[in-house]
Amino acid sequence: MRIEELREQVAGRVIAPAEDGWDAARLFHSGIGEPALIVRAASVADVAAAVRWASAEGVAVAVRGGGHSAWGTVAGGLTIDLGELTDIEIDGTLVRVGGGATWGAVAGTLSEAGLGVSSGDTASVGVGGLTLGGGIGWMVRAWGLAADQLTGVQLVTAAGDVVEVSAASHPELFWALRGGGGNFGVVTRFDYRAHELPAVVFGELSLQGDARPVLRALRDTLRGAPRELTVTYADVPAMDPSAPAGATITACWIGDDVDAARAALGPVLALSGVEVNDLGVRPYPDILLEMPEFDPNQPMPGFIGGNTLLTDADDDVLDALATFRESNPASVLFLRSLGGAYGDVPDDATAFSPRGATWFAMAGAFDLPGTTTEQRAAVEDEWARIEARGGGVYGNFTQAVDGSVVAKMYSPETSARLAKVKREWDPGNVFSRNHNVAPA
Ligand SMILES: Cc1cc2nc3c(=O)[nH]c(=O)nc-3n(C[C@H](O)[C@H](O)[C@H](O)COP(=O)(O)OP(=O)(O)OC[C@H]3O[C@@H](n4cnc5c(N)ncnc54)[C@H](O)[C@@H]3O)c2cc1C
Repeated sequence: MRIEELREQVAGRVIAPAEDGWDAARLFHSGIGEPALIVRAASVADVAAAVRWASAEGVAVAVRGGGHSAWGTVAGGLTIDLGELTDIEIDGTLVRVGGGATWGAVAGTLSEAGLGVSSGDTASVGVGGLTLGGGIGWMVRAWGLAADQLTGVQLVTAAGDVVEVSAASHPELFWALRGGGGNFGVVTRFDYRAHELPAVVFGELSLQGDARPVLRALRDTLRGAPRELTVTYADVPAMDPSAPAGATITACWIGDDVDAARAALGPVLALSGVEVNDLGVRPYPDILLEMPEFDPNQPMPGFIGGNTLLTDADDDVLDALATFRESNPASVLFLRSLGGAYGDVPDDATAFSPRGATWFAMAGAFDLPGTTTEQRAAVEDEWARIEARGGGVYGNFTQAVDGSVVAKMYSPETSARLAKVKREWDPGNVFSRNHNVAPA
């Protein structure tokens, strides 16, 4: 490995094992890696040089944006860390964001200009992985996925070329980048169409008692609700830091009209066992969660379960989700509302589908020490029956890196189309640390 040659070609830091800052550099939000080398790209040219160097040396590549997936590293390979590419430029409602920025930074900068882009729920998540995989956030019913707000990207290809990609310049590649993940190159700049967003109404409700009537009422309420409203139902044990312990509903309403938000949530608020902890106007950046960093000494256990995009959230499937949570004490259940602008996009307009889905559901039991093979298999079966009711898996919310998920993420037509784009732009599969699409 001719490391000195790479050092000469890039302005950013190249860090090898045992050098200063190695342990910090190989730590990412979801884990700690054992790569042979890490480059902290300081420019687009650095990214291009690193990609070319890795291809010439035959070294595997991992591209790290916000580092929230399981792919922030590759053993024995080169990690291209985009954490320095964080510029955010506002030009009217067009927003240009560096490929390594995080949503907290984007929301903070846009908020000062009275703007917003629908992102995820967590500040430290990267714009890169979230957008390329789709991106379900607090404005999904009003504005669609994060990927739906993209107008173009700057991409470093597997050949090390820098290409401006939009619907006009490279329609198939642009189609693939919106849902196809990091398969097609390194995005060094995302261009989003932002929306006016002076503030949001944010509500936090706690729930007691049987989840079933609440889930049904929530589904029925959202069916006819204005698009300004997006909600998440969560039921997590105390060991999970991603939501307050217990069953809760969080609701986000675009704008500062508390009465309208309250009216939209009316049928849910009227249920017994529902208590409003907080419902008020907040700056959008304030509602994004802060998550603890990965602690190598206390890794979180894995999950047995999964997620699914539900086109028909009927009583049976809602009951099955409630039962899953009840029968597994150390488990989580999340439901996020879709529909609205998410569903305005035709299934074949981006690589993300199904657009007919009205809810995203995710459930998993923690794979705690002592869980037997039989217990694990029983939970897997229970989840498989629920998943079979859905219309596809959302890849961004699974940590599986074994390739098994890809077939569940895309329809056969979408898979074939993605494989063709992959063959054109990355025939040697340089970018394989993702839900990998084989070139065909
Ligand atoms: C705490 C937490 C909260 C989350 N909340 C949400 C949520 O609200 N909504 C939602 O939809 N998802 C959410 N997710 C899932 C999240 O979208 C995925 O984990 C996503 O992959 C994270 O992107 P990242 O850039 O942080 O991760 P990374 O691990 O850096 O990247 C993920 C993948 O994208 C590739 N990639 C990243 N940046 C680029 C780039 N610039 N160019 C090319 N490839 C790139 C990487 O190579 C990798 O394959 C959450 C995840 C966590 C852990």
